[in-house]
Amino acid sequence: MNHIFGPVNSRRLGRSLGIDLLPAKVCNFDCIYCEVGPTTTLTCERGEYVATGEILAEIDAFCADPNRLAQVDVVTVTASGEPTLHSGLGRIISHLREKSGKPVAVLTNGTNLDRPDVTEELSRADIVIPSLDAALSPAFRKLNRPAPCVDLGEVVSGLVRFSRSYGGELWLEVLVVEGINDGEEDVRALVEVIRKMKLSRVQLNTVARPPLEKFARPVNRERLEKIRDRIMAGAGVAHVEIIAHGISSFERDGDVEARKIKFRYLKQEELLGEILQMLQRRPCTVVDIDRIFKVGGPEKVEQLLEPLVQSGTIERRLHGDTTYYQ
Ligand code: SF4
Repeated sequence: MNHIFGPVNSRRLGRSLGIDLLPAKVCNFDCIYCEVGPTTTLTCERGEYVATGEILAEIDAFCADPNRLAQVDVVTVTASGEPTLHSGLGRIISHLREKSGKPVAVLTNGTNLDRPDVTEELSRADIVIPSLDAALSPAFRKLNRPAPCVDLGEVVSGLVRFSRSYGGELWLEVLVVEGINDGEEDVRALVEVIRKMKLSRVQLNTVARPPLEKFARPVNRERLEKIRDRIMAGAGVAHVEIIAHGISSFERDGDVEARKIKFRYLKQEELLGEILQMLQRRPCTVVDIDRIFKVGGPEKVEQLLEPLVQSGTIERRLHGDTTYYQ
């Protein structure tokens, strides 16, 4: 398995190199909006699901090339599942900081922040981005479908405690699904929890890409704006942003040139390999793919991917009126 992907242009983080710690899919949630697929190992057990040494060796190989490293703004630790379930997390974060010299961000579903071993390991990262979609049990169960060992009260108290002790940047992500966690009571409970937390920012998201379950539907922008205003006023967070609409990638002038240089020299099969690695982790449109890999226009991307669709390696899915490949 290849554990390093990108760098991809992330609106949140800039040019982000992804480190995927887990095979699809080890998680303590089975969220209805998950982009990775159904959870096959629903567990709260931390373990070395992938040998830590294997991941460290890939990091060393990547960092040995100064040209590739120069294209990275931040390293993002993530997983096809929940990264804090990997028991080598702390070692991997420390190694990344030492070898890359770049800031390290960790994406987590926020469930293990009541565990001292996990919080100690996360404290080594520069940015931690936990999620909290619901503070009331009915919505939490419907949306995140947690393993029986996950207790919402412990999740919330762990998040609040961690937010008060962590020295880096803490960005809370909230994903809102129509008819599940967008009601008044749910928003009020969420604002109440956020009010107790010490956060750098809150990011509001909705179902912007094809979800695991078709009934996971996005809320409209107006609803997100209302929720944003409620959080700003009720929880006293100055920086609340909506990250859902439009694609999450963006290009800065320098990025365009860097990507042209990188991908110009890839053979077609290497390029397809890079694209497939990305599609394994998240569904993308042809515009997303072209923006990242500079294939030469959305039509060229379609032509490139058609044989893979025909062979069943990837599939096309309609979400709203947008076609995604995954
Ligand atoms: S969205 Fe994240 S937390 Fe939810 S099931 Fe998928 S990988 Fe797990």
